[in-house]
Amino acid sequence: MIQIKNYINGNLVESVSRQWLDNIAPATGKIYSQLPDSDEQDVAMATQAAKAAFSTWSNLSAEKRGDFLIEISNRILKKLDFLAHAESMDSGKPLWLAKQTDIPRSASNFKFFGTGIQHFASESHYMEETAINYTLRRPIGIAGCISPWNLPLYLFTWKIAPALAAGNTVVAKPSELTPLTAFYLSEICKEAGLPPGVLNIVHGLGAKVGASIVKHPEIPIISFTGGTKTGEEIARTASPMFKKLSLELGGKNPFIVFNDATMEDAVNTAIRASFTNQGQICLCGSRLFVQHEIYETFKNEFLKKVEAIQVGNPFDEKNFMGALVSKQHLEKIESYVQLAKEEGGKILTGGYRVKLSGEFNEGYYYRPTVIEGLSFQCRTNQEEIFGPVVTLQPFDTEEEVLEYANSTMYGLASSIWTNDVKRAHRMAEKIKTGIVWVNCWMLRDLRTPFGGMKSSGIGREGGWEALRFFTEPKNVCIKL
Ligand code: NDP
Repeated sequence: MIQIKNYINGNLVESVSRQWLDNIAPATGKIYSQLPDSDEQDVAMATQAAKAAFSTWSNLSAEKRGDFLIEISNRILKKLDFLAHAESMDSGKPLWLAKQTDIPRSASNFKFFGTGIQHFASESHYMEETAINYTLRRPIGIAGCISPWNLPLYLFTWKIAPALAAGNTVVAKPSELTPLTAFYLSEICKEAGLPPGVLNIVHGLGAKVGASIVKHPEIPIISFTGGTKTGEEIARTASPMFKKLSLELGGKNPFIVFNDATMEDAVNTAIRASFTNQGQICLCGSRLFVQHEIYETFKNEFLKKVEAIQVGNPFDEKNFMGALVSKQHLEKIESYVQLAKEEGGKILTGGYRVKLSGEFNEGYYYRPTVIEGLSFQCRTNQEEIFGPVVTLQPFDTEEEVLEYANSTMYGLASSIWTNDVKRAHRMAEKIKTGIVWVNCWMLRDLRTPFGGMKSSGIGREGGWEALRFFTEPKNVCIKL
């Protein structure tokens, strides 16, 4: 049984209460580790340590801070296989995906911001013959970083790395469902010689640890990724305290295929966009809109490929899909498929659990599911399902598909398929999402602004946006 510990002031420690939570492997449904059931006392200790470390850390040169981050990045890469295995065990995601994406990307996050901070410059505004303004950008203090379970180490480090690079110290909480790689990250930070208190990781429940971070008066910046409802709750607490807030929330992303799209690319990418990580990526395309003329061809090709997807043991590399993250989440997916039927949807494929044998027979497996015949306004097409369930809908014109695409409260990402460059520009201009992919999906350049509009969040991560978020700008005006 792996015993996960908090990382506070450079030490790996139990929670003050000495209470533990069970951690279940989604592939087997069995408990395989325990994590501290921490509370506000642990958050208070972590905050105290972060406060004590702030002065030294923030006064280190950008180059020195960058060196620490690059060292952590290198150590993550050295342990790639070990960490990928842990991520797969903890979340149910296929090992191939953790090896190809989650862990390399976690290393890149540290390297990207560790080097980026050395190129970060602030603005200057010259007023002719009158004055010169320059903007000082200084670290703010202690950053609270809270992340979800779907891309555990990847999203955790996407927040921690820029916060540290910019000179803040951090109190962070990974999801209680997937704490393992965050625990291994704390070991890596110790080995890399990161000074005590610079990064503190407190494990436990969102309602206890997460909420304590959000309301702590000495944590002035909150960077959160998770569900829209949780985001609302966080904003209710943090806004009256005038905390700086970045909220990366849910999505209901449209994947739009026009008649002139390259069919094979569109179908293959639709498979990835719909079912990678069991459909549990905030960027997954969950509403597929296909123009009338090619609708039947696209549908047939898509269904053939969906039916060929293998679901099973995440450690077996032939399986494209592994397990869903928890029993509760599996039941949520089932309830949405039931809702889709009640709303008049026709299940074209999937719509049921996959029962495996042997040690995996209690795991949380679900067939990739495609549903047709629903209106764009129904709940199935408006609410985030966050699993391997997509809907297919035909459309005729650009105006019509824009109405469908923009109809939800979300506005995170979209993917548009066309070979008409003018149409691509028109659509990109009019679609209400923070990220627009044309003839691709999830092609990421870490320098670009990342985040959503409407109820998909506030603020942007990535590149300079992240470094600006984690610093306080101060304008200095000097009369000439
Ligand atoms: P949750 O909102 O349930 O949880 C996210 C994190 O917040 C977890 O660490 C959770 O802890 C914690 N938390 C829960 N309640 C509180 C609270 N009251 N105060 C502070 N922290 C709290 O989301 P999920 O983990 O279920 O993640 C899935 C969601 O994340 C989806 O909606 C998805 O779209 C979104 N997401 C958005 C992304 C984006 O970039 N826009 C990227 C990835 C996911 P615990 O797990 O212990 O409850």
